[in-house]
Amino acid sequence: MGGANRIQKQPQADYPIRAPKPVGQLITNIYKDRINQFYAGGQWEHNNLRAMMNEGVASGEPHVQLSVWDAPDLTRPTFEDAVSHEFKKTSVGASFGPSWSTHWFKVVLKVPEDLVDKRLLELHWDANNEGLIWSEDGKPLQGLTGGGERIEWILPESFRDGKEHTIYVEMACNGMFGNAGGDLIQPPDPNRYFQLGTADIVAVNPDARQLYIDIWIIGDAAREFPQDSWEQHKALKVCNEIINTFELGNKNSLNACRKIAEQYIGPNVNSAKVYDSDKDPVVFGIGHCHIDSCWLWPFAETKRKVARSWSNQCDLMERYPELNFACSQAQQYKWLKELYPSVFERVKTKVKEGRFHPIGGSWVEHDTNLPSGESLVRQFLYGQRFFESNFGSRCQTFWLPDTFGYSSQLPQLCRLAGMTRFLTQKLSWNNINKFPHTTFNWVALDGSQVLCHMPPAETYTASAHFGDVKRSMSQHKSLDHDATSLLVFGKGDGGGGPTWEHLEKLRRCRGISDTVGLLPRVHMGSSVDDFFDNLERKADSFVTWYGELYFELHRGTYTTQSNNKYNNRKAEILLRDLELLATLASIKDKSYSYPKKDLDHMWEIVLLCQFHDCLPGSSIEMCYDDSDELYADVFKTAAGIFKDISKAFGVSEAETATMQNGVALNTLSWPRKELIDISENGAAVACGTGPFLDLREFQTFEESPAVTIRKRSDGAYVLENSQLRLEVQGGSITSLFDKSKNREVIPKGQKANQYVIFDDKPLYWQAWDVEVYHLDTRQELPGGETKLHEEKKHRVSVVTTTKISDKSSIETVISLSAALDGEQSYVEVSSKVEWHETMRFLKVEFPVDVRNTEANYECQFGYVKRPTHYNTSWDMAKFEVCCHKYADLSENGYGVSILNDSKYGFATVGSCMRLSLLRSPKAPDAHADMGTHHIRWAILPHSGGLGATTVRKAYEFNNPIKLLSTSAETLAAAVSGVCYNESPVRLTADSDPSLILDTIKRGEDDEDVSRGELPKKKGRSVILRIYDSLGGRARGTVATTWDVAKVSKTNLLEDELEEVVFKDGKYAVDLSAFEVATYKLQLA
Ligand SMILES: [Zn+2]
Repeated sequence: MGGANRIQKQPQADYPIRAPKPVGQLITNIYKDRINQFYAGGQWEHNNLRAMMNEGVASGEPHVQLSVWDAPDLTRPTFEDAVSHEFKKTSVGASFGPSWSTHWFKVVLKVPEDLVDKRLLELHWDANNEGLIWSEDGKPLQGLTGGGERIEWILPESFRDGKEHTIYVEMACNGMFGNAGGDLIQPPDPNRYFQLGTADIVAVNPDARQLYIDIWIIGDAAREFPQDSWEQHKALKVCNEIINTFELGNKNSLNACRKIAEQYIGPNVNSAKVYDSDKDPVVFGIGHCHIDSCWLWPFAETKRKVARSWSNQCDLMERYPELNFACSQAQQYKWLKELYPSVFERVKTKVKEGRFHPIGGSWVEHDTNLPSGESLVRQFLYGQRFFESNFGSRCQTFWLPDTFGYSSQLPQLCRLAGMTRFLTQKLSWNNINKFPHTTFNWVALDGSQVLCHMPPAETYTASAHFGDVKRSMSQHKSLDHDATSLLVFGKGDGGGGPTWEHLEKLRRCRGISDTVGLLPRVHMGSSVDDFFDNLERKADSFVTWYGELYFELHRGTYTTQSNNKYNNRKAEILLRDLELLATLASIKDKSYSYPKKDLDHMWEIVLLCQFHDCLPGSSIEMCYDDSDELYADVFKTAAGIFKDISKAFGVSEAETATMQNGVALNTLSWPRKELIDISENGAAVACGTGPFLDLREFQTFEESPAVTIRKRSDGAYVLENSQLRLEVQGGSITSLFDKSKNREVIPKGQKANQYVIFDDKPLYWQAWDVEVYHLDTRQELPGGETKLHEEKKHRVSVVTTTKISDKSSIETVISLSAALDGEQSYVEVSSKVEWHETMRFLKVEFPVDVRNTEANYECQFGYVKRPTHYNTSWDMAKFEVCCHKYADLSENGYGVSILNDSKYGFATVGSCMRLSLLRSPKAPDAHADMGTHHIRWAILPHSGGLGATTVRKAYEFNNPIKLLSTSAETLAAAVSGVCYNESPVRLTADSDPSLILDTIKRGEDDEDVSRGELPKKKGRSVILRIYDSLGGRARGTVATTWDVAKVSKTNLLEDELEEVVFKDGKYAVDLSAFEVATYKLQLA
């Protein structure tokens, strides 16, 4: 028995009474609430810590003299322009407006005698709107947010001489989120006025300010740590001790209070030294400022937001050596460089110091659902080239926190653009299924991988709260492999990025981790690259996610702002055509110079408009007025380029032509055989493989016409060619019979091309969301009487008017052309919609007699499969998905594809395919999609599963051949190669038909093309981009008539990776499934 050896202690007679009076336990909820009272405004503010924040305030004249110049007509003049005008006297209390107007203030400051020796002097300026402080000689100094946020500017030491000093404030009449008339996303109120509420010189008591942050954060520990932890109780106790020690009016008590705080936050929180402890951190704080390139304000305002925010960060870095700031979007850097060169130089200095980190590698933070494959390539090409040429290096991390879903080809394209890491966050907004990982390997369609991290604090605009640090661990879903995470903090969109408060709070969070523990240890001073470097070492063990990162929200963005999406599709196709033709012209004819400057200009516009609130349709009306103008500029520039190209080839645009002088422009890389209208009623067959196709006579015979139309007694029309027979009644297709397969496509009793309309009132985000319950409100729109529209030898059509409401209707033309041998025929539909609805969604349905649990949807450089059923919540979440030029439902041996010319929203439910046409949200644009729309689509039945027929017809449907006329001389010279009947570079006919030669362009840095951003390269080169469109190994041959010295495979940035064997004008192409390959042909 162990106890037997114990020495018995004598009872201590001298033990004093330790608790001479009753002692109670702290009643947690009451003592917790008391903490807030210590620094709250309102009834306590004259008697709590707040009352000691300032040691003196100087308002009004002679200390703060104000005069103003109002910029006319909502203009945003430069500093030089503004200060050249006469300023008139004004004062605090005056109002300025209307919304979006600009007002320049001349502010003359004279620090009063009794304040010159105070420790911290600030100008406090608050007019509830954004502003920028300028030095007297025109240097932007710091941004202002308004509404109590970021209203302080520290006066320079030189202002303490008791003399007058001048600065300027550029006031923008908008808040950080624009000028919403109601809640955040309501359309802007054009008539807001802003009162200048505060313009004071303030002597701040730094001890009081520091104590405020101390108790705020320790108070958070008391409020947010679990009540079954000693750390929570200790925090509560420390806070209450501080409050008890505070004496109003006694400055020494502030220091005594701060001394007590040290028990919890340690002694080092007054400087960056707090981060010097050698304990391993898990949360890595990185400053960031998410600036939407347009959204609830126009592009023009974003240019100023960038200057305000980034000058702010450069300033903050001087005072907080631990601050590292990452910012994306090459476009915003370019705006800064052009409009605010002094701020850009300041940023450049900070980049050199390794504090300011350009990140993302893309032109803007773009949408990834809607842009074409080549657009995604160009986002990276233009982005990385900008970063490399201005800052000396490319980005390693693709940074896209706020985009509405992520294309399954992104990992491949990132890798090919020199990036192995990806940061995003938006999937935490999923409103059906929780995405299960924080850190993982994301795998593309082709098998390429990037390392992906989604910050577990679930925000990219964290205010660096105690809770953000805590959630970085508690919401981390990959703790089984690695516990580290990024905390992306800083106010976005006019909030100016991290604030001094954020940095002070994080110092205290670190202090807590090192002093009492429990809170995940946050670290400052690392870059995003450092963070990923560390992760990359362990990447072998991380889980994998294959295919797209589908976003379970914002599905309306595939459809909203239809006109903008139409322009995007047209501009993408136009750019493709122009680059191809300009390449051929520049090589054919040395006197023709490749229009690189114009092409860059067009691309930069198209890329900007793919910003994640622009192309998806979630911006205010002003942004779409702007994008309309920008696209008009693109189309005008294109017309000019095309004119020059036409001249180089001896062709010109034509409405009509004859067999003798007509040619058809073709920009696709496979043999084409198509009908083309050459006169009011006449057609020809364009046939060949080159850019300019010969016209041949279209032959028909009276006894067996190529296409017919007849009216049946019941009012239905029957349209028929050698492959298809369809019946149309009341605008719907009641039968589509495939003669070659002896098969009916439409299930018995059902109707294809049937318009349906849905109530479309999502939970909140109108322009963004269509919610699952809209499906319950489906209503068929009955068509009117179908009438004969066209009866030509080569094409027949019928027209039907469908009434949607008293204000809205659709005129639909369904046509069938003569089928040409070897070409799959399809039914073409073009509609003109008058659309004036409110919160309704128009779609068109195609029930088909095809069965599969998965449907196919074209995406960038390939296609993705998605379920046609609602088995699980993950399947059901995909009730509305994104497609590009086609969606397809196929079973063994047969299928149907729906092609479109400008639409992106689609659904396949069971055997019903449904193309989304138009929405009518009223926020944030009250007039979104109102007006006239022209939309085309086609129904393409086909033998076999999804194959090259669909891929090619979808391209052809979007790239109709175009009638040109040419002269006899040009045609005569054609034999000598002036007019190409066969392209000088092509995939040979025996190549795998899944191979698509998508892009032909000149090398970026060729000496005759380069604009000098990066070193020029000798000689001339041509870049070809070829991909496998169907997901299997694909082989082929590229043949060229050019004098080629060398062929190399390159990445998207046109760096040569490996040489390819080139012999007898040919080289072999051998791609794996969904591979995107780029080749550089160096000409001799
Ligand atoms: Zn955003």
